[in-house]
Amino acid sequence: MRKKIVAGNWKMNMDYNEGLALFSEIANMVKDEITGQQQAVVCCPFIHLYSLSQLAKGVDKVAIGAQNCHQKESGAYTGEISAKMVKSTGAAYVIIGHSERRQYFGEDNQLLAEKAEAALNSSLKPIFCIGETLEERENDSYFDVIRTQLKEGVFGLTESQFAQVILAYEPVWAIGTGKTASAEQAQEIHAFIRNEIAENYNQQVADDTTILYGGSCNPKNAPELFAQPDIDGGLIGGASLKSRDFLDIVKVFN
Ligand code: PEP
Repeated sequence: MRKKIVAGNWKMNMDYNEGLALFSEIANMVKDEITGQQQAVVCCPFIHLYSLSQLAKGVDKVAIGAQNCHQKESGAYTGEISAKMVKSTGAAYVIIGHSERRQYFGEDNQLLAEKAEAALNSSLKPIFCIGETLEERENDSYFDVIRTQLKEGVFGLTESQFAQVILAYEPVWAIGTGKTASAEQAQEIHAFIRNEIAENYNQQVADDTTILYGGSCNPKNAPELFAQPDIDGGLIGGASLKSRDFLDIVKVFN
């Protein structure tokens, strides 16, 4: 059985104290309310990683992740944070290739492949994001776009490396827009992704890969999305900043 995961992406929100307060609420709710085998992950800004990892220590079912890392282990890269540094805080996950990184910071598939490898070399689990823009959806090139993102971004990894990767399908037109992909649209792509994994690796690897949906996911639409056979959880932006909403999404897997 592949793992069910609900990961929050705080993006560039929450100062240090606000982040601590929000995470304390989340951790208490996870302790009290999660009864299933699902994993909650909170992907916070770098400044919170160490403190939240300490708070998460006593709480089964919640882990901490970063939202980015540099592709090199160390060196003269002023202002950057390596995967090794992220790992040293106690974090276990890192988002790689979020569409905002691709769009605003020019991160392309080749660079993201290096980042995924760097994360794995530091024993972090990459949450690797893929997804098409509105234009690519409307001109029907989205299957090709996603195939290329997979091929260039993660399919260069060995089978045992890939086994540590979580994929997140996030249609760019659904991120932060309030416009969710329908359960059918999302399932269609998730099934396509799983098939691509089977073709590149094998069926067992495909069956074992956790594939998250992201894009305006909330407590109302999560049950229908997560009921799809190839959707194994969510990557949650806006709704992860409200402890009650985030927990209600995690609880879909109770
Ligand atoms: C995201 O940032 O990955 C995301 C899915 O955002 P939102 O849930 O706000 O659309």
